[in-house]
Amino acid sequence: MSSRPMRNILVTGACGQIGSELTMALRERYGNEHVVAAGHRTPPPDDVRDSGPFVYLDVTDRQALEEVVEQFQIDTIFHLAAVLSAVGEQKPDVAWRVNMNGLYNVLEVARTRSLTRVFCPSSMAVFGPSTPKENTPQETILSPTTMYGITKVAGELLGNYYVQKFGVDVRGLRYPGIISHKTPPGGGTTDYAVAIFYDAVKYRRYTCFVREDTVLPMMYMPDAVRAAIELMEADFRRLTRHADYNITAMSFSAGELAREIQKHIPDFVCEFQPDFRQAIADSWPRSIDDSVARTDWGWRPAYDLPAMTVDMLNALQTRYQQGQL
Ligand code: NAD
Repeated sequence: MSSRPMRNILVTGACGQIGSELTMALRERYGNEHVVAAGHRTPPPDDVRDSGPFVYLDVTDRQALEEVVEQFQIDTIFHLAAVLSAVGEQKPDVAWRVNMNGLYNVLEVARTRSLTRVFCPSSMAVFGPSTPKENTPQETILSPTTMYGITKVAGELLGNYYVQKFGVDVRGLRYPGIISHKTPPGGGTTDYAVAIFYDAVKYRRYTCFVREDTVLPMMYMPDAVRAAIELMEADFRRLTRHADYNITAMSFSAGELAREIQKHIPDFVCEFQPDFRQAIADSWPRSIDDSVARTDWGWRPAYDLPAMTVDMLNALQTRYQQGQL
């Protein structure tokens, strides 16, 4: 399998929650001109649009994808364009079309053009109600009940198939909920763990859409970005998995998160009014066993709940004082 270097990188979904930060980290590491950011409908953050090549691309349009890959001599794709769990339940047809056709197009371009490597994140949404909920193993039952989860299981299988059948170097990991303060999340079930910080800083109140005792695995964005880059830079020969590594950083209930914020903002009040996203959250693990990622490519998270909370509040309070929220 290829040990060729990653030289010219395309990031799809580059204006999304993860893409907007991963793009900047990749430009820092590989050079601004070598990282092409592809946006779609989400407005581009200024730094992503202005610090290097920027294009608009619908990943379901194979021809348009081919043209971008050709124009910029792309050898590596970080494929982040997707429709997430909550939006996917409201528009299952769009989730299927974008998540499956988009990934298929990316994998076919990688196969036919012999690209060096492809990153396609999966999600803890591959697990379902019948999966063990505590310390969910790497190898376990994948029976999701959401369209998003179904596309992620199929995406993992497809990625692994392209490795075995065609020798394409496809790598992916099952992100837990990602918490960050730069770009708002795009319609997932763990969005409450981000929105709670914004509302705590702005209003001192938040109405949470899952129950207080809902525990889910989470990760702070600097760890999520580092995980993607470390997996993509790992020696292929050390990888015992391909498109489906379990990873996690922390697990906490919505109530524990609210109390952690109250340590810094004592008058913060959080109410709990579950909506349709509660059922999605209830179908997912409470904690995840990521020991295979730790052994294979040295995965270690840096942020736990207290450290993440301090960093989130500092960043958002600064922006609030500057009138940017
Ligand atoms: P996001 O919704 O913030 O960003 C996805 C981007 O894809 C959006 O900016 C959207 O405009 C774009 N997009 C949608 N349809 C498109 C199309 N047809 N063509 C091109 N672009 C299109 O999502 P994110 O949180 O940045 O997620 C990135 C990846 O990580 C996804 O594969 C997602 O499933 C995975 N993931 C995210 C989380 C999380 O908590 N954020 C957790 C697990 C997995």
